[in-house]
Amino acid sequence: MAERVLVLGGGLAGVASARELAAQGVDVTLVDRNDYHQFQPLLYQVASSQLPAEDIARPHRTIFREHPKVDVNTADVVAADLAARTLTLDDGRVLTGSHVVVAAGAQPNFFGTPGAQEHAFPLYSVADAERLRLHLRDLLRTALADPASTADGAIDVVVVGGGPTGVEVTGALVELMAQLHRTRGLEPGRVTLVDRGNALLGQFSDQAHHYAHGKLTTGGADIRLGVGVSEVHADRVVLTDGTSIPTRTVVWGGGESGAAILEHAGPTPGRGGRIDVRPDLTVDGYPGVYAVGDAANIPSDDPTRALPQLGSVAQQSGRWAAQNLVRGLHGEPAQPFVYRDKGIMAMIGRNAAVAEVGTRHRHQVEGPFAFAAWLGVHALLLSGVHSRTDAFLTWAWEYFDHEHVAHVEESSTPHRIAWGGDEEDRPHIDTERR
Ligand SMILES: Cc1cc2nc3c(=O)[nH]c(=O)nc-3n(C[C@H](O)[C@H](O)[C@H](O)COP(=O)(O)OP(=O)(O)OC[C@H]3O[C@@H](n4cnc5c(N)ncnc54)[C@H](O)[C@@H]3O)c2cc1C
Repeated sequence: MAERVLVLGGGLAGVASARELAAQGVDVTLVDRNDYHQFQPLLYQVASSQLPAEDIARPHRTIFREHPKVDVNTADVVAADLAARTLTLDDGRVLTGSHVVVAAGAQPNFFGTPGAQEHAFPLYSVADAERLRLHLRDLLRTALADPASTADGAIDVVVVGGGPTGVEVTGALVELMAQLHRTRGLEPGRVTLVDRGNALLGQFSDQAHHYAHGKLTTGGADIRLGVGVSEVHADRVVLTDGTSIPTRTVVWGGGESGAAILEHAGPTPGRGGRIDVRPDLTVDGYPGVYAVGDAANIPSDDPTRALPQLGSVAQQSGRWAAQNLVRGLHGEPAQPFVYRDKGIMAMIGRNAAVAEVGTRHRHQVEGPFAFAAWLGVHALLLSGVHSRTDAFLTWAWEYFDHEHVAHVEESSTPHRIAWGGDEEDRPHIDTERR
């Protein structure tokens, strides 16, 4: 059979893999349920009405316009058989590859919390962020028209999870509430962040925990640590200490597990429902199959834990798997993946960011320095999907430095990322899908 690599998923990992393979002259079929790549680090900006969804959703056809070796298919993969290296699509087609790169990412994990699946708003995809934005827009519109309607927690928000996602969305929402108070006189909705642990940004240092806590509480957020969510209802959440918070908006930043398609693909799912891979990113017992990014448990230097679910890990592992695959085609041995650690970082709001950088010893930076580190890493991630990272840099500094009026009533803000492009470049975002 002629070599044709199936790449399942067009996120940071899948796109990096497909680009590298195409550059090395290999034919690729990339399949994704969406016709666009989504940039998750900016989802909270969409959810809080600061960026339109189109600005962080780049169509795959545009990304691969200059790469005729990549055949892009927009379809849901309904079954994957990694032993046979086949993918079954929702239109009935069955694709067979000489190799498969599994880059299907992850999905929100509600840990079986009653009511969470039905009532909470996860924040994993562009569609998730757009659904949350529209929901908040409707509540805020009603409140602006009739301030009395804010009784019973109508515009209060509960954010579940004190990791980077929870902290970033909390920071953005308290700013949104404060802006609407200043500019429109709306009494701010309360934003409560709940986490079972005893610190925000658990994987960061104590200094970062305090920094994030201080920034969010000064901004007006209520932080409830050491307590989890036991039930989610349409009009309230119940916490593990028995208290109840009235709210119609529960944002779920509480964890994720491997994509659903991995459950029955062949390999027994490892920790977090992800595929365990060998150091060279291949899957034991499945010749010709690689797993990368959020879909994989990738061994790290610490034998007790895999590499984290981060954009840099996804992008680098996707590219590395492609290089190993090509080595194999040339009869050369595969090389163990070497991760170039870019550090960990989180935006806590306008003018507030924290980063821990350095490989051997972590150094913590805050404020503009942390933001600069965040910008450098994220521009690099975006460079895989956009040629105009300068537009991102301009937008980001403008966002960090200046305050803009929130535009909850319109579908887009004037402070967009000036990516350029034409109508053809527009993604098809459907909030009914994942
Ligand atoms: C809210 C949020 C904020 C984040 N912020 C940061 C950050 O600031 N910095 C950082 O480094 N990392 C951040 N991350 C993590 C980072 O975004 C991920 O690690 C990275 O994007 C994972 O890339 P991936 O390609 O493995 O998966 P994904 O980007 O999830 O891509 C998987 C793709 O597979 C497709 N897919 C899945 N199943 C199917 C199927 N059955 N059929 C067809 N297509 C399918 C999906 O549509 C998707 O396009 C954040 C993550 C989230 C959720």
